[in-house]
Amino acid sequence: TQQQAQASYDAQDLWQKDKNHFIHPFTDFSLFHEKGCDLITNSDGIYVEDVHGNRFIDGIAGLWCVNVGHGRAEIGQAMAEQATRMAYFSTFNNLSNAPATELAAKLAELAPAHLNHVFYSCGGSTANDATIRLVHYYFNRLGKPSKKRILSRTNAYHGTTYMAASLTGIASNNWQFDTLDLVTHLSEANCYRRPEGMSKAEYCDHLVDELEQTIERLGADNIAAFIAEPIMGAGGVLVAPQGYHSRVQAICRANDILFIADEVVTGFGRLGHFFASEAVFETQPDIINVAKGLSSGYAPLGATLISDALYEVLSTPQGPGGVLSTGFTYSGHPVSCAAALKNIEIIEREGICENVLEVGPYLESQLKTLASHETVGDVRGSHFMMAIENVANKTTKELLPVDARVGDRVAAEAQKRGLIIRPVGHLNIISPPLIWTRQVVDEVVAILNDAFAATTRSLKTDGYL
Ligand code: PLP
Repeated sequence: TQQQAQASYDAQDLWQKDKNHFIHPFTDFSLFHEKGCDLITNSDGIYVEDVHGNRFIDGIAGLWCVNVGHGRAEIGQAMAEQATRMAYFSTFNNLSNAPATELAAKLAELAPAHLNHVFYSCGGSTANDATIRLVHYYFNRLGKPSKKRILSRTNAYHGTTYMAASLTGIASNNWQFDTLDLVTHLSEANCYRRPEGMSKAEYCDHLVDELEQTIERLGADNIAAFIAEPIMGAGGVLVAPQGYHSRVQAICRANDILFIADEVVTGFGRLGHFFASEAVFETQPDIINVAKGLSSGYAPLGATLISDALYEVLSTPQGPGGVLSTGFTYSGHPVSCAAALKNIEIIEREGICENVLEVGPYLESQLKTLASHETVGDVRGSHFMMAIENVANKTTKELLPVDARVGDRVAAEAQKRGLIIRPVGHLNIISPPLIWTRQVVDEVVAILNDAFAATTRSLKTDGYL
């Protein structure tokens, strides 16, 4: 049936329609006008295939999300069964559906002990957006209406709805877009580019000092929450120095500031655990947000996991007729929740977290061998969340000119050789499905060795090195 589906596509017709009508997210129009799109039409396990039948190893799990891999018929079946039985009904007021209820209970079981309440959204941005509204509502209900400001970090990525984009700290993402004046950005935790001569421990002190000074300057009475990805993803896979998150959380607690972990990428196995906050970073967030790997991308879904203490306030009756007026038509969508339940069943049954704990360190060590290439300045990340930073000069860490498009070059060389990785400016991101084996890692690293060698050659030919 897959081949029949493939045969029925008219590649040229689709390419033209796409060019005429589809505004792609995060698109470089100088490339789009010239080349249009690449249509990905089939997938299976660790592979995807384009409309012309070229097969690639998926090095980015779709977009950090297809954690259990592609083509899982049992997820498709669970979705189809739910769609035919009861595709959709409201969850507003006191209505519910079986998959949404079962999933909420399952998430409460998997999450750190104090997080037992789930608010559903449609993805990561809406999860973060809804969270900030709930946090503001929470402090309003407590009679602390001045606590509004949110602390985020430079280069954080939290999505692109208005509030989520305002939390996001990647300057280029908001270029010529407006943001809400509700957020103060602290420095990112970037060990590779930390100030010259500072040890990682001193760097951690430095970041923590900045947080304390910021709270002092703004006033704790004006700050509602701190939000962070346990490992910053789209901002460059930045792993904070040891102890950073737990020290930040302690300061937040002391100042009545909620600590929100955006685990949209780090959750559901990418670091070897369903949730990384407690298991890896020894924090107990008041709120954890998840999306992506929650349903392995088989259906759109996001969830906000809320502590017992917060829930007590949020669920205090407002008075006659008053309701908690926030949520989406698709909060707790039955088909998405059915996909997520099956996805979690697969992760548990196949020991996918265990695979990440076993293969992850091997992936890290093998990718680190790429540091022998002239342009590879840093190879970093953890387990199945990795990035390579390309530089012009390893000693000075100076970057190549933007027009060298080094990330694009590496990605294109890898793609020619059958591997899709993601270019983000001068970085390349590798965030595979969590079912890669050591053998796949060896194949990938061999391709990357050739891709980096070819990139160095082309940069020399073009006069950039
Ligand atoms: N938060 C993080 C950490 C993310 O990486 C992303 C997406 O990449 C989002 C939030 C936004 O999620 P979505 O694109 O599903 O709205």
